[in-house]
Amino acid sequence: MTAAALPANSDRPHPGAGVPLRGLLPAELAAWVAAAGAPAYRAEQIFRWLHGQTVETVEEMVNVPAALRQALAEAHPLRPLAADVIQVARDGTRKLRWRTYDGRAIESVLIPDDDADRNRLTLCVSSQVGCAIDCRFCATATLGFGRHLGADEIVEQIYRAAALAGRRPTNLVFMGMGEPLHNYDNLTRALALLEHPWGAAFSPRRITVSTAGLVSGIDKLAAEKSVAGQGSAPNLAISLNATTDAVRDRIMPINKRWPIAALLDAARRFPLSHGRRVTFEYVMLGGVNDSDADADRLPGLLRGIPSKVNLIPWNGFEGPEFVRPPAERIRTFQERLRAAGVAVYIRSPRGDDIDAACGQLAARPIDSGTLGGSPRPPATDSATQSAASSTRSMPAGGLATIRPWRPTTS
Ligand code: SAH
Repeated sequence: MTAAALPANSDRPHPGAGVPLRGLLPAELAAWVAAAGAPAYRAEQIFRWLHGQTVETVEEMVNVPAALRQALAEAHPLRPLAADVIQVARDGTRKLRWRTYDGRAIESVLIPDDDADRNRLTLCVSSQVGCAIDCRFCATATLGFGRHLGADEIVEQIYRAAALAGRRPTNLVFMGMGEPLHNYDNLTRALALLEHPWGAAFSPRRITVSTAGLVSGIDKLAAEKSVAGQGSAPNLAISLNATTDAVRDRIMPINKRWPIAALLDAARRFPLSHGRRVTFEYVMLGGVNDSDADADRLPGLLRGIPSKVNLIPWNGFEGPEFVRPPAERIRTFQERLRAAGVAVYIRSPRGDDIDAACGQLAARPIDSGTLGGSPRPPATDSATQSAASSTRSMPAGGLATIRPWRPTTS
């Protein structure tokens, strides 16, 4: 192969032009390989290195010719996430903070199963730096919108977390920072990469996309995934959080665009594979949405939707004037729903002692005393320091050297 045959600096846009290397779909990689005059099998080989072996540099693709590797990295740079801080909560939940190539901080949360026999390992994944949706009860909202994450940055959270954990997560939930359906193109690209048999081969049944209620995104996901050959849809979770538009308008401004009835219609239209249900998340806010009247309205709203409800006791952070209802109130709310035939669970807060629980992700600077004095890049956000006194934190470097799981390679 000669450098002249390589398309690296071609002015002609090719499929996937401008997409970072780990975000390229197999067909885009194949087009690039063909344009480079390399044999077709290189596309599969390269994809397996990126998504199976999850290499961090192109040099690690040892069976790919050096000239081709270099041309590839020039045309489509790798943008690795740097492991920044890892915090371990008392319940074993680990919050992983990453630095992006442009110095932004994002977080993922590794959640071990509270039932050790099931041995589930759930990874909560971020889709954006900050968030634009502005839910009043959510810490990520206080950051405002930074930018969308690329598909490469989304899948890297999973690959790097697997490396740190020493095993791959069994379940992925897009419930970290950001609104996944606001970043629709990168989300669906990431799903295609994660589900591809040459890579991590995740089943869409093991993936849950959680939305604040972007009806256009729900419909688009439903339409695309109903097309033959596009694979089945991931599980859908909807953050309902209220039973009247008056309350939902107040706590989730997106409700003014798509009110409850429109949102529930979209849920009714969503294609569910056999035995699947839509999950409705319901953050419990004392005196706001936790009354008996709320509990009595909810079953009627959900009628006709195969569904379950997860009650999430509000997780506090500095700022908003919300309170978590007393445990007794939450149980009563659950009982009323259950009596009306609703499948309803209380989601126990995981990792809340390190601000890793639902709605607490704000990539705050962490007290350097908890880091063993390890050097790290300056924080780019302006939020106040978190109290991490009850946690064990460690610099990421030591753990980050653990190699990822090794699925099949060619
Ligand atoms: N943007 C997506 C995913 C991120 S939020 C969405 O809205 O679904 C993930 C879940 O955490 C949502 O159900 C949200 O309602 C909930 N949540 C947000 N802030 C919370 C908080 N402070 N306490 C408890 N749950 C919260």
